[in-house]
Amino acid sequence: MNQVRTDILILGSGIGGLTLALECAEWADVVIVTKKSRSESNTNYAQGGIASVLAPDDSLDLHVRDTLIAGDGLCHPDVVDMVVREGPPLIRRLLDLGVAFSRDDLGALNLGREGGHSRRRILHAADQTGREIERALLAAVAARPNIRLFENHLALDLIIESRLLGTGRPGAGAETAWGAYILDDASGLVEPFMAAVTVVATGGTGKVYRYTSNPDIATGDGLAMGYRAGATVGNMEFVQFHPTCLYHPEARSFLISEAVRGEGAVLRTLDGRAFMTDYDPRADLAPRDIVARAIDSELKRRGESHVMLDAVHLGEKVLLEHFPNIVSTCRSFGIDPVSRPIPVVPAAHYMCGGLVTDPDARTDIHRLLAVGEVAMTGLHGANRLASNSLLEALVFAGRAAVTARGLTPGTRVPRPVPWVAPPGTERKEKVIVDHNWDAVRGLMWDYVGIVRSEERLKSALARLHLIRDEVASFYRRFPVDADLAELRNITLVAEMIIRCATGRKESRGLHFTVDHPNRDDKAFARDTLLSSAQGLRLGPPVAHASEAGVTEGAPS
Ligand SMILES: Cc1cc2nc3c(=O)[nH]c(=O)nc-3n(C[C@H](O)[C@H](O)[C@H](O)COP(=O)(O)OP(=O)(O)OC[C@H]3O[C@@H](n4cnc5c(N)ncnc54)[C@H](O)[C@@H]3O)c2cc1C
Repeated sequence: MNQVRTDILILGSGIGGLTLALECAEWADVVIVTKKSRSESNTNYAQGGIASVLAPDDSLDLHVRDTLIAGDGLCHPDVVDMVVREGPPLIRRLLDLGVAFSRDDLGALNLGREGGHSRRRILHAADQTGREIERALLAAVAARPNIRLFENHLALDLIIESRLLGTGRPGAGAETAWGAYILDDASGLVEPFMAAVTVVATGGTGKVYRYTSNPDIATGDGLAMGYRAGATVGNMEFVQFHPTCLYHPEARSFLISEAVRGEGAVLRTLDGRAFMTDYDPRADLAPRDIVARAIDSELKRRGESHVMLDAVHLGEKVLLEHFPNIVSTCRSFGIDPVSRPIPVVPAAHYMCGGLVTDPDARTDIHRLLAVGEVAMTGLHGANRLASNSLLEALVFAGRAAVTARGLTPGTRVPRPVPWVAPPGTERKEKVIVDHNWDAVRGLMWDYVGIVRSEERLKSALARLHLIRDEVASFYRRFPVDADLAELRNITLVAEMIIRCATGRKESRGLHFTVDHPNRDDKAFARDTLLSSAQGLRLGPPVAHASEAGVTEGAPS
């Protein structure tokens, strides 16, 4: 058995995992496992930037207030306060690492403004902020000999004490994590990686839906692994959809920025009718959620697959000046926005829910921490304020490092138990795996998307259970590969989303159901919690927005 033992095992090499690794490398041996190449992550595709209070006319209180308004009564105010306050020094750390944020002619940081932010506070590196952050973090990691990074290694499941010692069912009581079983893509072998502390930093879940802005890695693996091991997940019904992703069979996840509508582009149905005035007096400039819901409603009503974003009247000069990347990418797919409207669909963009953590990044499994998009920290509540997610990952990575340091000294990591491979040899029915991938993603898009109903949720769960049982049977019988492992995970994450959505009988933030179209603070100003041991339940009342001195409705 090819054994890896370390102090800190980090699953994922996005902003959360890499920041944490650098912090821990000051005092510990660190292993990072990442399932594709080292830079392939949601972080790498982040465009807008990272929010932090740096402008003289801005204040921490204003950033807190904007975050609470967006979160629609479900943010945890103490967490919001903590994240916003801890942000600015961490931005300075990124600058020290060499992150080249955009600057103005005088060399001052160029702060952008985005929907929902009352001040300019978005640090960005042109429209490739994530790529620049990822580049700088990877360079710093490469310079630390006590960080080992395994590319093309996929974490399958956590190694938990009850399974090691054979003492019962995961989730039945207090659990401890001691690492993870890791699949080496090259050899096809699964090995135990043992650690005193295991950190899940596996990012988001966009691939659960047919249309997503996320890259292929976003299959919710960490969430699924945590849940299977007995951890509590929360608020999985709050999936943020971006209103306009390019609709083209080969353009897997290309976003058409909301700034195009900001410049005057108009959404139309396939027969050319501008429909946004039917939904909101602000028409195409309505907040993101309203636009996404309006498109969804038109698609469902008309039975069509996409709508058109018409920017033709803006003219070639404006389009090329403001959106050179969008124009060239569209042209590369044979669509010229200068002469014809761009086909678009809304796309799953960000998961506000996740593994429930405390302010020190602890899950409810001992020695298991979670940072980044995979975690539900209480920052976002029912809707994420733009550019707060990179900030959240930075802050919680720093806090996780402190927690990990307290857990590491003197720990005796148990002896590993080898992975038991299923008896089957080669898997012959790949078509079933492929079909089920499409089935889960299509089901979630059609039944559990932007606008929900009890009928559709019920039907989706019944259909999903059939797929889940088929996938489980495959998993038991045949050797595992990445495709099958990820299918198993998206199926479980889809189930979590449906179950949490079913439990929230109101509409709030990103969760909208036609059966309960209003917000109900009396019954539902609470997090939705789900675990294998306790099933679905509501958490204690969250101190909601009005208590935190915020009374306005949610912005974009
Ligand atoms: C197109 C786009 C634009 C965005 N723009 C912004 C923005 O402007 N501002 C903002 O704040 N946020 C933005 N976001 C969201 C933000 O990028 C993410 O929330 C954030 O980068 C998440 O960081 P992370 O470290 O948690 O996860 P990620 O960066 O997604 O990293 C996850 C890592 O885990 C690895 N992994 C996953 N599963 C496994 C497994 N089973 N085994 C081993 N490794 C695994 C992945 O390969 C990857 O390395 C955007 C997202 C997208 C998709």
